[in-house]
Amino acid sequence: MLVCETTRKGKKCTFMTAQGCSFNGGSCAEIIEACNGCARSEQHENGWFCTAFPEPSVKWKNGNCNLATHVQSAVADAKAKLNPIKASKRRGK
Ligand code: SF4
Repeated sequence: MLVCETTRKGKKCTFMTAQGCSFNGGSCAEIIEACNGCARSEQHENGWFCTAFPEPSVKWKNGNCNLATHVQSAVADAKAKLNPIKASKRRGK
């Protein structure tokens, strides 16, 4: 892996090549509002970027980003709320 020389300077990145950044347009995209609070976002000279994905908006197109660290608790909460319903259904059988 080569070290980024554009948006995430100094970070190793799979998209970095000897010819420069190979990602769409030659650089990755900034995080979007939904990423705020995610532990995978980090601040660089040109703004906030994701350590896992070069284009964060794509990760939120069809629901929550699967690697978001800040929405896991919301998913866990939803599951916790579902369980009592399942349990009561089971009891009803
Ligand atoms: S992991 Fe997902 S939510 Fe977190 S910064 Fe990256 S794209 Fe955004």
